[in-house]
Amino acid sequence: MSTSMQSLRGFGDILPEASVRWRFVEERLRQTIAGYGYDEIRLPLLERTDLFARSIGEVTDIVEKEMYTFEDRNGESVTLRPEGTAGCVRAALQHGLLHGAQPRFWYMGPMFRYERPQKGRFRQFHQIGAELFGHEGPDVDAEMILMTGRMLRSIGLDDIRLELNTLATPAARQIYRERLQAHFRAHHETLDEDARRRLETNPLRILDSKNPAMAEMIATAPSLMDFLDDESRAHFDGLRELLDAAGQPYTINPRLVRGLDYYSRTVFEWVSDRLGAQGTVLAGGRYDGLVEQLGGRSVPAVGFAAGLERLVSLVEEAGAGPKGAGVDAYMVVMGENARAEATRLAERLRDRLPALRLLVNGSGGSFKSQFKRADRSQARYAVIVAEDELAEGRIGLKDLRGGAEQERVDEDALVARLAALAARRDGDIDQGG
Ligand code: ATP
Ligand code: MG
Repeated sequence: MSTSMQSLRGFGDILPEASVRWRFVEERLRQTIAGYGYDEIRLPLLERTDLFARSIGEVTDIVEKEMYTFEDRNGESVTLRPEGTAGCVRAALQHGLLHGAQPRFWYMGPMFRYERPQKGRFRQFHQIGAELFGHEGPDVDAEMILMTGRMLRSIGLDDIRLELNTLATPAARQIYRERLQAHFRAHHETLDEDARRRLETNPLRILDSKNPAMAEMIATAPSLMDFLDDESRAHFDGLRELLDAAGQPYTINPRLVRGLDYYSRTVFEWVSDRLGAQGTVLAGGRYDGLVEQLGGRSVPAVGFAAGLERLVSLVEEAGAGPKGAGVDAYMVVMGENARAEATRLAERLRDRLPALRLLVNGSGGSFKSQFKRADRSQARYAVIVAEDELAEGRIGLKDLRGGAEQERVDEDALVARLAALAARRDGDIDQGG
């Protein structure tokens, strides 16, 4: 195939075999979030460029070099959303949702960033995220951290570490920022090109660098922990007490900074050691200043976003989740005269068993070739509609996985067998096995 007909670099297809696993992950995560009283919000993929520039920050990687920005036919600058928080806050402001009883929203869908594609990093990727508005105390931070931990366990991932930090208030961060710049300037010769660029615009981001040549210089940098104002310290201590009380382990990582400008106080990440450099599967924190920055009255907020590609690949590696696609039953149709009855029977089965996955053989073929296709479909049963059986008012049924002989059953017996199968299958998905 000519490359012009292939997908864009970093834009993946999720093929049928994988989409079963995706659905499992999405459904479990969704269920866990709903269990904490969040409601779904569905947001546009395209927004005004200005929204992201103002919320994420002009000097972040995302806004500087990762956005898919173009002019629409009217000459307006628009951008494919690189993340979900900005759009969620925009929608909540636009529709007056921020001052309800307990505004809690979750969203899921594709995000777009022009990055260098590699393992765990794509240009179109998917996030599930949530935002909670209107609460200032560390109790909601703790609850969100516990919720995200539960989400990860719900998909069978129980070896993911929690890392925690605080970014303090903008005022405390400003003082720290100057100290940090002084430290980095004193080591100017060690800074790589990226770090030199960030030195003036966003020095905190240098702490996040993965360049081994800078590791020692970063390790000796001053820590924001030593610059916390009283309020930020009380908030952080409060959060730690709640996590300790809940028995949730964590490590404090003073180098943990977020790529996005709008965070304040709590930041956290869930990190897997099984994904190499792209180990962060879920990241979140508090962003008390964002709503006001986007033109609303000041409303405190906490949120998180998780990368679904990384989660799905961990689920696959762990062998958790459902075992593959496939149908429950494959209908083998023998003989011209059976065709019409097969069509009618298939529709009756769908009437009676809405959850049944039934694949009806297309375009005829010999008995042997139809059974081969039935096998490949991974169906548990072959349902045989053939003239002989029909003459007796019966239907053939063969268990393709147990070695038993083919049976002849009436329609009610067939429905009962297929119903038991569909129920068991749904049970399997619930058990994650
Ligand atoms: P990173 O440091 O890996 O670039 P980030 O700070 O840019 O991450 P966030 O914007 O906080 O990431 O996004 C939250 C999560 O979304 C990440 O932890 C990751 O799991 C996922 N994610 C971010 N960018 C990508 C991408 N390009 N491809 C796949 N997943 C991604
Ligand atoms: Mg990034």
